[in-house]
Amino acid sequence: MIMARYTDAVCKLCRREKTKLFLKGDRCMTDRCSVERRTFPPGEHGRRRVKESDYLLQLREKQKTRRVYGIMERQFRSYYRQALREKGKTGENLIRILESRLDNVVYRAGFASSRKQARQLVNHGHVTVNGKKVDIASYQVNEGHIVAIAAKNKGLDAVKAALSGIQREVPGWLQVDKKKLEAIVVERPAGESIDVPIRDEMIVELYSR
Ligand code: SF4
Repeated sequence: MIMARYTDAVCKLCRREKTKLFLKGDRCMTDRCSVERRTFPPGEHGRRRVKESDYLLQLREKQKTRRVYGIMERQFRSYYRQALREKGKTGENLIRILESRLDNVVYRAGFASSRKQARQLVNHGHVTVNGKKVDIASYQVNEGHIVAIAAKNKGLDAVKAALSGIQREVPGWLQVDKKKLEAIVVERPAGESIDVPIRDEMIVELYSR
């Protein structure tokens, strides 16, 4: 019963953003996805038409992005400040920083069916980077890093289930060896192949106000 309510709460986030945020693993790829079935946002005013200001649209884009990666506002803002300091376009830098998180890389490699599950794998010490255990989900992965499921945990049911479930496209910056449960970061992570379209320039506009 509790689980059912929790499921709905997670899916409400997608309905609020009117897009699939892929927060529930395999279910998101099936017709059980509630965004497929209900196109209006949750709540009693969900069906009412609201004229959205630029500010509101920018805010929604930022909230959507935060929810995709499961990040609190404070950390998200600090990522933005880091993106601002780096060379190049701030929005692209921001997405690269988000994509470089260790939990995201575990998810993108297909070793977990959702980012939330990937974060649990990292937090519980099941993931290594270049052979050393790293249990910090926000750890920034770089080009040349080898991310793997720790040897003693290679039979983990969650990893097995993710690998035998619905397969997502692996981004070009990652090379995955499913037998070894290893993923090599062959290039700097980028946002091009991200599963949820994100208008990063709107997030930059919001924070530049
Ligand atoms: Fe729920 Fe996933 Fe569909 Fe979002 S994409 S509504 S989390 S099933």
